[in-house]
Amino acid sequence: MADWWNKLQKLGECSQNEPMSRHTTLGVGGEARWFFRPASRAAIVSAMQCIPADVPLLPLGRGSNLLISDDGFTGVVLDVGKLNAVSVKEQILTAECGVRMSKVARQCAENGLSGLEFMATVPGDIGGGVAMNAGAFEQQVSDSLTGIELVSREGEVKTLSAGTLQMGYRHTRLPAGSLVLSATFSLQADDADAIRETMRQMRAKRGGSQPLELPNCGSVFKNPQGDHAARLIEAAGLKGLRIGGARISEKHANFIVNEGDAKSSDVLALIEHAKTVVEQRFGVCLEPEVRAIGGAL
Ligand SMILES: Cc1cc2nc3c(=O)[nH]c(=O)nc-3n(C[C@H](O)[C@H](O)[C@H](O)COP(=O)(O)OP(=O)(O)OC[C@H]3O[C@@H](n4cnc5c(N)ncnc54)[C@H](O)[C@@H]3O)c2cc1C
Repeated sequence: MADWWNKLQKLGECSQNEPMSRHTTLGVGGEARWFFRPASRAAIVSAMQCIPADVPLLPLGRGSNLLISDDGFTGVVLDVGKLNAVSVKEQILTAECGVRMSKVARQCAENGLSGLEFMATVPGDIGGGVAMNAGAFEQQVSDSLTGIELVSREGEVKTLSAGTLQMGYRHTRLPAGSLVLSATFSLQADDADAIRETMRQMRAKRGGSQPLELPNCGSVFKNPQGDHAARLIEAAGLKGLRIGGARISEKHANFIVNEGDAKSSDVLALIEHAKTVVEQRFGVCLEPEVRAIGGAL
């Protein structure tokens, strides 16, 4: 066994040929050749120093925006789930990468801090939220993010201000191969009950419009300028279309649901079909929001 893999055994939980269907909210995807869950922040930094530069690395949060190929991932999946500390000092909140966004939302409510209410409705972690510039209800991570701490592929820890990350709609420019260790937000003081009520209303709206009862990865496509991907897909007559075990949701046309036995290839085929038909019918090129790993997107 490779020397570096033996070293990782001392830094956290390790497995080989780990089915990624267990680690993504869509519930599809083949095996990760190596799967590593570091025990601590220091373990991540040490791991980055010992994983060879030519071994592909995939940081994994909640897997709520990932579509991993049926052929799997031939590198190291690095699951940051054990890094879950949050601290609040006045109006500044700092969270480690593995903290669920819903936990950050709870902390905000408890401390009367406004700006991240949408996090009550997004299932990912803080690291994934920064990497995707997650957002909803006219809020997004970049509105209140002041900076991040990251570790480079070589294992060097750096602090970057949010302004250097070129964040846009579901886009953040992170240095290649790096991993976000923590994120710091500057928030506004507000009434705790009002914040809780806003979050409650956001959750209720989500529950009514999204197929949360079945495995999915949230919005499959980004909304094109001035329009909605869901409207275009529905207008193209694709709602309810099924390929294998995957279906374009009847409830929300920009969601693809796994009806139980979907393969990654079924989801990819639906994405490609929807993209082609929408372009033919309306001349709009839809851009996937979901990140396909090892797939054709
Ligand atoms: C029901 C549902 C509703 C959703 N609603 C929304 C919504 O309203 N708004 C929205 O923006 N998104 C939404 N999403 C999508 C998803 O939750 C977000 O994109 C979220 O930010 C992904 O976080 P994650 O931890 O699951 O990241 P993952 O899916 O694990 O990873 C996503 C990307 O981020 C990278 N990444 C993860 N962690 C790190 C890290 N620490 N450092 C560097 N890179 C990292 C991964 O390598 C990958 O490229 C929804 C998803 C679902 C299933």
